Amino acid sequence: MVSDSWAASGVTPVSAQVALARLRDGNHRFASGSTIQKTPFDQTRHSGPIADQEPFAIVLGCSDSRVPAEIVFDQGLGDLFVVRVAGNIAFASQIGSVELAAERFGARLVVVLGHSDCGAIAAALEQVEHPSHSRSPSLDKIIAYLQPTARAILALNSQPKRDDLMRLAVRANILTAMGHLKLGSNILTQLIENDGLIIVGAEYSLRTGKVRFLEDLQDSRECPLRIVVDNERKESIS
Ligand SMILES: [Zn+2]
Repeated sequence: MVSDSWAASGVTPVSAQVALARLRDGNHRFASGSTIQKTPFDQTRHSGPIADQEPFAIVLGCSDSRVPAEIVFDQGLGDLFVVRVAGNIAFASQIGSVELAAERFGARLVVVLGHSDCGAIAAALEQVEHPSHSRSPSLDKIIAYLQPTARAILALNSQPKRDDLMRLAVRANILTAMGHLKLGSNILTQLIENDGLIIVGAEYSLRTGKVRFLEDLQDSRECPLRIVVDNERKESIS
């Protein structure tokens, strides 16, 4: 078991299963227009030491302005530890952030949250199809992370409709980030093996407001081949 401050506090972390149920319920409220959160500032809850925060889940999501995790899951201040980056990718800094929340604050559920019509994914697909001159080394790093997945999806679909291509690429990228979180972290691996941490993938629909968890997808055609993730694992994480 890893050493962590939440353990020293004597607080029992919310289980991954309970956390997942809370997120499912919260998104149902959000998508059906029956939210309960108004995010008021609660001084009694949030004025303590920094180690007192007890987020029940960690979300690695896209920076897209339309996909704020706290809102789409109808959660309040202190409920979620959210890491947002364009394309919900898992570079070292994102992995370290997830480790921090899992190890120090006791969260046992990690959700990689992608979304429909992701601009970062679209940019990666366009760069594969029509390579263009680089204007930013920093942006290049994000696109470079996304490109192997985009390339693999393009290779799988000889006559793709654009919508299908995007949907598959978004889901493949979620799986890729899940793989990189596991591959890139001994801390998370230990927590998975010994302390009930689970990593799940989910996709938010800009059209419906609903989050679909990838584990609910029954039809293999709805979810890209696992081989994409296997290929991604050969890529370095830096
Ligand atoms: Zn996005």
